[in-house]
Amino acid sequence: SDSHFPVPITPYNVDYSEHYPEFFPSGQINNYNGDTTSSLEVKKIQFADIGCGFGGLLVSLATLFPETLMIGMELRDKVTEYVKERIVALRAANPGKYQNISVVRTNSMKYIPNFFEKGQLSKMFFLFPDPHFKEKNHRRRVISPHLLDEYAYVLQVGGIIYTITDVEELGEWMKACLEGHPLFEAITEEELQTDPVVKLLSSATEEGQKVARNGGQTFQAVYKRIAPSETE
Ligand code: SAM
Repeated sequence: SDSHFPVPITPYNVDYSEHYPEFFPSGQINNYNGDTTSSLEVKKIQFADIGCGFGGLLVSLATLFPETLMIGMELRDKVTEYVKERIVALRAANPGKYQNISVVRTNSMKYIPNFFEKGQLSKMFFLFPDPHFKEKNHRRRVISPHLLDEYAYVLQVGGIIYTITDVEELGEWMKACLEGHPLFEAITEEELQTDPVVKLLSSATEEGQKVARNGGQTFQAVYKRIAPSETE
């Protein structure tokens, strides 16, 4: 149950030195000191991979965006431990690299606002989430109208949500939720073509590779966080 893992009380209590020791070597929790007038750049997590599984996406993104801090959020204890060890091994084998990725065991459906401030994130990933087929279980889906309110809160304007699934019904559901939300807008075909991350959606994760091996079809929805319209 949730009592087995600690949850930060606020985003300022997330221990950055534990996750990114090379970026935060001094043991400070993070370099936020409450002083909003300070000219010091505060480095924060910008990408979140929700239900990251075995971490394939993080590993691919680490070298593509070496200066961006990213975190995977995963509910299963053993899987989270596996990802931790994977990152430790990658760091050891590649000095100076993979310092910008980490993982945390948590229930992302409950604790997103404990980890991220308003407008903090520039990308959120939902790759091959569990489908929860039955109608009565739809409320357990990681994309829902209610949870999209939370994701809109932690995403900056212009930030992007990436979703992909091999379950057609879930793909339609995620797209319909995003389409129906006033703070999200589909990215254009041109943006889809030029965004280097889009290519990774179907190929970088363990689940994506399994689907590809089996020749399965995938359904993606990529949406941008927009500012509220003046009339709303
Ligand atoms: N994204 C990975 C991939 O593409 O390989 C994993 C996909 S797997 C089908 C879904 C993952 O979401 C599982 O590892 C599961 O433990 C995790 N998960 C499910 N509900 C979650 C929640 N509420 N919070 C965090 N992770 C969750």
